[in-house]
Amino acid sequence: METNIPDIYAIGDCAECVHLVTGKPAWIALGSTAAKMGRVAAINVTGGADTFKGVLGTLIVKVFDLNVGKVGISEREAITEGFKIESTIVPAGDMAHYYPGTKDIIIKLIADVSSRKLLGAEIVGEGVVDKRIDIIATALTFGVTIDQISKLDLAYAPPYAMSMDALIVAANVLSNKLLGKTVGILPQKVVEKRDRGEDFILLDVRTEMEYMSGHIKGCQHIPLDKLAPRVNELDSSKEIITYCRAGLRAAQAYRILKNAGFRNAKYMDGSIIAWTYGLEK
Ligand SMILES: Cc1cc2nc3c(=O)[nH]c(=O)nc-3n(C[C@H](O)[C@H](O)[C@H](O)COP(=O)(O)OP(=O)(O)OC[C@H]3O[C@@H](n4cnc5c(N)ncnc54)[C@H](O)[C@@H]3O)c2cc1C
Repeated sequence: METNIPDIYAIGDCAECVHLVTGKPAWIALGSTAAKMGRVAAINVTGGADTFKGVLGTLIVKVFDLNVGKVGISEREAITEGFKIESTIVPAGDMAHYYPGTKDIIIKLIADVSSRKLLGAEIVGEGVVDKRIDIIATALTFGVTIDQISKLDLAYAPPYAMSMDALIVAANVLSNKLLGKTVGILPQKVVEKRDRGEDFILLDVRTEMEYMSGHIKGCQHIPLDKLAPRVNELDSSKEIITYCRAGLRAAQAYRILKNAGFRNAKYMDGSIIAWTYGLEK
């Protein structure tokens, strides 16, 4: 924390440091950073030799009932930094779905395609966000891959997590995309396609009741359990993007379409839960 002027130290909001994901200079003014920089400077001022390695920009904020956290770099930041990335959005419960008080969280993970290393995460929801953000912060500090996240031995009991924690589920979903086992598309990319006037089929695979309660304008509806016998109702020459409530049934529908020979199928990551662009009844 010593400046270019000997014996003059700079810490906190007035000091730049290194971003541990990009390796580049970063200025992310946070109290958590200032406090740790302060200890390093104090050790050095009093004759020690400590270093401050850098930051991940880990942050969390409460927005009314929502917990909103970020760590590492966002999709946009990663692209700006020149990474070739893959990302996913995965809604999940913060504990076992049958346990009273379970709340939703939505996890976005961003990874580097060639190294499969995790680059960042954003998590939002009424459920427990901070635990998952801090797990990712620890993992990012040591430069882990998506595969390593997916095998973490995280604590499980119904009041605390699903048997496979939401974070591990999200890592597995992203791993499937990185391996090319599934082809997903984020909701905002679907909107961009629609705004460009591209001709594609948006396929709602939820139940009749879910469909009636609100669906994306212009979609076609075939419930997942009817899809296999009804695939011939779909124009196979067109791009087909499946969606459901959270993405799981959409991914299953994607698999049915691929097996039926549809070459240009995708599923929508996060589906309706991550769709913030309005529904029609
Ligand atoms: C509303 C708000 C909420 C925040 N919430 C969070 C959070 O939840 N988590 C988080 O990590 N970070 C948070 N931050 C950021 C965090 O507060 C800062 O990053 C941190 O306080 C920076 O510490 P610092 O010591 O560099 O500067 P400061 O805490 O700003 O301390 C600088 C001190 O220098 C004094 N000073 C200025 N000029 C002079 C002068 N000429 N002579 C003598 N003294 C002077 C100031 O009065 C001040 O006391 C928040 C910031 C704001 C504004």
